[in-house]
Amino acid sequence: MQIPVAEGLFAVNGAGVQLIGTRCCSCDTLYFPQTPGCRNPLCRDKQLEQVLLPDRGTLYSYTVQRYQPPALFAMDAWSPYALGLVDLGHGLRVMGMLDDVPLDKIAIGMALKLSLRTLTTDENGQSRVTYAFVPDTTKDHA
Ligand SMILES: [Zn+2]
Repeated sequence: MQIPVAEGLFAVNGAGVQLIGTRCCSCDTLYFPQTPGCRNPLCRDKQLEQVLLPDRGTLYSYTVQRYQPPALFAMDAWSPYALGLVDLGHGLRVMGMLDDVPLDKIAIGMALKLSLRTLTTDENGQSRVTYAFVPDTTKDHA
């Protein structure tokens, strides 16, 4: 059994993992995580709708965290990990852990896709999971 680290962050469905964001119906601005109101100062309407965001993007920037993540993202087996800023297009960049790639193989501009990462598993087999970005290998063979 998998339990999301927070409600409303991502959805797991037939298409895989998708982040849940909001889109302004008036000015089309996308937000992640979800926001209660459009922050575009030029926008007058500000009515928002929930949308599933693209599950693929490119690495815009990243940093390597060499300290334990905050309590919400505590991991069973902790080691330094990369936190990426991923460009999903449409003017939207989101932060997420980078998984399945050695720290010295991370490259700005690399193609990424969304995945799930298990943070902890308790004695009953329940896992706390969060979203993470992994290399999009389908791009390597295109
Ligand atoms: Zn707006």
